[in-house]
Amino acid sequence: MAKKLVLALSAFVIIIAFFSGCKKFEKEGHMQEPGVVITFDDDRVDNWFEYLPMMDSLGVKATFYICKYNRFTADQKRKLGIIRSHGHEIAFHTTNHYNMEDYVYKSRHTIDDLMRCEVEAGLKLMNQDGFYPTTFAYPYGAHNAVFDKMLMRYFKSVRALNGTQDFSKSVVPTQHNDLLYGLGIDKSSKRSDPDIINVLQSAKNNNACVVFVSHDINTPSKFSTSLHRLIQIFEFVKKNNLKYYTASEISD
Ligand SMILES: [Zn+2]
Repeated sequence: MAKKLVLALSAFVIIIAFFSGCKKFEKEGHMQEPGVVITFDDDRVDNWFEYLPMMDSLGVKATFYICKYNRFTADQKRKLGIIRSHGHEIAFHTTNHYNMEDYVYKSRHTIDDLMRCEVEAGLKLMNQDGFYPTTFAYPYGAHNAVFDKMLMRYFKSVRALNGTQDFSKSVVPTQHNDLLYGLGIDKSSKRSDPDIINVLQSAKNNNACVVFVSHDINTPSKFSTSLHRLIQIFEFVKKNNLKYYTASEISD
């Protein structure tokens, strides 16, 4: 019985070692101040607004990539303006949140249609209300080099997603980036708390900056990051003197 237990435990340790061995955190950076970019995607302005006082009290500066602005109410537009006035960046996440690769390659749309409808139309509405996004995030992270290049006509950087165990892919070494790979921190990402903290620690140790992606704050949705996790991140940032950058501040 004891022998079986030892065997089972050994197998467990080997499995854990194997999986943790696949993870990579370190990337050497050259930033004056190591830091973090916290990004929130989509149209959940009411939810974000609710947590604005909490973010203020902890000195958090985040980036909000906005989609479906055409459906925002006057009150939601007002809230978005207040979020910006508290030092956060308002960025762009397309007009209708379509998967851009499907939109072009699985339908009859052209890349020109894509740029006109999913970029220019939504941007124009935001511009009319005084929002001038300079950075972009892909819905579902679906991108390719052709889109990246087209979007650089409108934006300083584009953000895709990091779906790998190579966490260093979400770490940028300087403030001069045009392609970011955000690391999901919400429930759907299935990342563990220690991994999130490890990548922050790695950014600090290497004078680099990590880019995180979230959606809702503390809702039942699987695209939500718990308050517990966010507070853990914010406390680590404070304790370790990391700097909050916005997406545009690392896209010069
Ligand atoms: Zn999205």
